[in-house]
Amino acid sequence: MALRRAGGTQLRKRGFWVFTEYRYEHPAGAFRLGSRRFARARRAVDEGGAAVIGRADGRTLWWTGDAFYWADDEDGEQVALLAWDRRRRDSARIERLRKQRAHEGAAVEEAGGARRERVPPDVRTAVWFRDAGRCVECGAEDDLQFDHVIPLARGGGSASANVQLLCGDCNRLKSDSLA
Ligand SMILES: [Zn+2]
Repeated sequence: MALRRAGGTQLRKRGFWVFTEYRYEHPAGAFRLGSRRFARARRAVDEGGAAVIGRADGRTLWWTGDAFYWADDEDGEQVALLAWDRRRRDSARIERLRKQRAHEGAAVEEAGGARRERVPPDVRTAVWFRDAGRCVECGAEDDLQFDHVIPLARGGGSASANVQLLCGDCNRLKSDSLA
Protein backbone atom coordinates (compact mmCIF):
# COMPACT_ATOMS: atom_id res chain seq x y z
CA MET A 1 0.00 0.00 0.00
CA ALA A 2 1.27 3.45 -0.88
CA LEU A 3 1.13 5.91 1.98
CA ARG A 4 2.00 9.46 1.13
CA ARG A 5 2.44 12.24 3.65
CA ALA A 6 -0.27 14.82 2.97
CA GLY A 7 1.86 17.93 3.07
CA GLY A 8 0.20 21.27 3.65
CA THR A 9 -2.87 19.85 5.38
CA GLN A 10 -4.17 22.05 8.17
CA LEU A 11 -6.95 21.62 10.65
CA ARG A 12 -9.04 24.72 11.35
CA LYS A 13 -11.82 25.04 13.82
CA ARG A 14 -14.83 27.23 13.10
CA GLY A 15 -17.99 28.12 14.93
CA PHE A 16 -18.84 27.13 18.49
CA TRP A 17 -20.74 24.62 20.61
CA VAL A 18 -22.82 22.19 18.48
CA PHE A 19 -22.17 24.40 15.47
CA THR A 20 -18.46 23.75 15.64
CA GLU A 21 -17.06 22.65 12.32
CA TYR A 22 -13.61 21.28 11.61
CA ARG A 23 -12.09 22.08 8.27
CA TYR A 24 -9.19 20.04 6.97
CA GLU A 25 -7.66 22.25 4.35
CA HIS A 26 -5.32 20.57 1.92
CA PRO A 27 -3.73 21.84 -1.29
CA ALA A 28 -6.52 20.34 -3.44
CA GLY A 29 -9.45 21.59 -1.37
CA ALA A 30 -11.00 21.06 2.04
CA PHE A 31 -12.99 18.48 3.97
CA ARG A 32 -15.49 19.49 6.63
CA LEU A 33 -16.25 17.43 9.69
CA GLY A 34 -19.01 18.14 12.17
CA SER A 35 -18.16 18.00 15.85
CA ARG A 36 -19.49 14.44 16.27
CA ARG A 37 -17.49 13.00 13.42
CA PHE A 38 -14.47 14.94 14.61
CA ALA A 39 -14.83 13.49 18.12
CA ARG A 40 -15.00 9.95 16.67
CA ALA A 41 -11.92 10.58 14.53
CA ARG A 42 -10.04 12.11 17.46
CA ARG A 43 -10.83 9.05 19.59
CA ALA A 44 -9.64 6.63 16.90
CA VAL A 45 -6.37 8.56 16.55
CA ASP A 46 -5.90 8.78 20.33
CA GLU A 47 -6.28 5.02 20.53
CA GLY A 48 -3.46 4.54 18.04
CA GLY A 49 -5.66 4.03 15.01
CA ALA A 50 -6.41 6.05 11.92
CA ALA A 51 -9.46 8.04 10.87
CA VAL A 52 -10.81 8.86 7.42
CA ILE A 53 -11.04 12.61 6.91
CA GLY A 54 -12.34 12.55 3.36
CA ARG A 55 -11.97 11.18 -0.14
CA ALA A 56 -10.89 12.94 -3.31
CA ASP A 57 -9.70 11.74 -6.70
CA GLY A 58 -9.85 8.09 -5.68
CA ARG A 59 -7.62 8.69 -2.67
CA THR A 60 -8.42 8.83 0.99
CA LEU A 61 -7.07 11.41 3.41
CA TRP A 62 -6.23 9.77 6.72
CA TRP A 63 -5.40 11.23 10.07
CA THR A 64 -3.13 9.18 12.32
CA GLY A 65 -0.47 9.98 14.88
CA ASP A 66 0.22 13.66 14.47
CA ALA A 67 0.08 13.70 10.69
CA PHE A 68 -2.12 13.34 7.62
CA TYR A 69 -1.58 10.86 4.83
CA TRP A 70 -3.07 10.12 1.45
CA ALA A 71 -3.60 6.44 0.73
CA ASP A 72 -5.40 4.50 -1.93
CA ASP A 73 -6.37 1.94 0.66
CA GLU A 74 -9.35 1.72 2.98
CA ASP A 75 -7.80 -0.28 5.78
CA GLY A 76 -7.36 2.00 8.78
CA GLU A 77 -5.32 -0.49 10.76
CA GLN A 78 -2.77 -0.79 7.96
CA VAL A 79 -2.59 2.97 7.55
CA ALA A 80 -1.98 3.43 11.28
CA LEU A 81 0.68 0.72 11.34
CA LEU A 82 2.53 2.00 8.28
CA ALA A 83 2.51 5.56 9.60
CA TRP A 84 3.71 4.36 13.00
CA ASP A 85 6.49 2.34 11.36
CA ARG A 86 7.52 5.38 9.34
CA ARG A 87 7.69 7.58 12.45
CA ARG A 88 9.67 4.92 14.27
CA ARG A 89 12.18 4.54 11.44
CA ASP A 90 12.47 8.30 11.06
CA SER A 91 13.26 8.82 14.73
CA ALA A 92 15.73 5.91 14.75
CA ARG A 93 17.42 7.44 11.71
CA ILE A 94 17.52 10.90 13.27
CA GLU A 95 19.01 9.46 16.45
CA ARG A 96 21.66 7.66 14.40
CA LEU A 97 22.47 10.81 12.40
CA ARG A 98 22.67 12.89 15.57
CA LYS A 99 25.19 10.43 17.04
CA GLN A 100 27.16 10.24 13.82
CA ARG A 101 27.40 14.00 13.50
CA ALA A 102 28.45 14.38 17.12
CA HIS A 103 31.16 11.75 16.63
CA GLU A 104 32.36 13.15 13.33
CA GLY A 105 32.46 16.61 14.82
CA ALA A 106 34.36 15.33 17.84
CA ALA A 107 36.94 13.47 15.80
CA VAL A 108 39.68 15.97 15.24
CA GLU A 109 42.18 15.87 12.46
CA GLU A 110 45.83 15.23 13.24
CA ALA A 111 46.89 17.41 16.08
CA GLY A 112 49.62 19.96 15.41
CA GLY A 113 47.92 22.84 13.64
CA ALA A 114 50.45 23.93 11.05
CA ARG A 115 50.34 20.83 8.86
CA ARG A 116 46.60 20.43 9.28
CA GLU A 117 44.58 20.16 6.13
CA ARG A 118 40.86 19.88 6.30
CA VAL A 119 39.54 16.44 5.37
CA PRO A 120 36.53 17.21 3.15
CA PRO A 121 33.13 16.38 4.71
CA ASP A 122 32.30 13.68 2.14
CA VAL A 123 35.66 11.98 2.80
CA ARG A 124 35.03 12.16 6.57
CA THR A 125 31.66 10.49 6.11
CA ALA A 126 33.05 7.80 3.77
CA VAL A 127 35.95 7.05 6.14
CA TRP A 128 33.63 7.04 9.13
CA PHE A 129 31.40 4.38 7.54
CA ARG A 130 34.27 2.33 6.12
CA ASP A 131 36.03 2.18 9.50
CA ALA A 132 32.69 1.65 11.30
CA GLY A 133 33.26 4.54 13.70
CA ARG A 134 36.20 2.80 15.38
CA CYS A 135 39.94 3.13 15.65
CA VAL A 136 41.37 0.87 12.92
CA GLU A 137 44.19 -0.20 15.26
CA CYS A 138 42.48 -0.99 18.56
CA GLY A 139 38.75 -0.64 17.93
CA ALA A 140 38.26 2.22 20.39
CA GLU A 141 35.16 4.34 19.86
CA ASP A 142 36.27 7.42 21.75
CA ASP A 143 38.76 10.20 21.12
CA LEU A 144 38.80 9.44 17.40
CA GLN A 145 40.84 11.40 14.90
CA PHE A 146 41.01 11.45 11.15
CA ASP A 147 44.57 10.37 10.48
CA HIS A 148 46.44 10.68 7.20
CA VAL A 149 48.01 7.24 6.56
CA ILE A 150 50.85 8.90 4.70
CA PRO A 151 51.27 12.26 6.43
CA LEU A 152 50.56 15.36 4.38
CA ALA A 153 54.11 16.51 5.07
CA ARG A 154 55.33 13.39 3.28
CA GLY A 155 53.14 13.84 0.26
CA GLY A 156 49.98 12.04 1.37
CA GLY A 157 46.65 13.43 0.20
CA SER A 158 43.19 13.81 1.69
CA ALA A 159 41.38 11.22 -0.43
CA SER A 160 39.60 8.56 1.61
CA ALA A 161 42.20 5.93 0.68
CA ASN A 162 44.77 7.92 2.64
CA VAL A 163 42.58 8.73 5.61
CA GLN A 164 41.72 6.44 8.52
CA LEU A 165 40.19 6.62 11.96
CA LEU A 166 42.64 6.37 14.84
CA CYS A 167 42.08 6.99 18.52
CA GLY A 168 44.28 9.56 20.23
CA ASP A 169 46.53 6.92 21.81
CA CYS A 170 47.13 5.02 18.57
CA ASN A 171 47.68 8.26 16.72
CA ARG A 172 50.34 9.34 19.23
CA LEU A 173 52.03 5.93 18.98
CA LYS A 174 52.08 6.28 15.23
CA SER A 175 53.48 9.84 15.42
CA ASP A 176 56.22 8.62 17.78
CA SER A 177 57.17 5.82 15.42
CA LEU A 178 57.33 8.22 12.48
CA ALA A 179 59.43 10.77 14.33
ZN1 LIG B 1 43.36 3.00 18.90
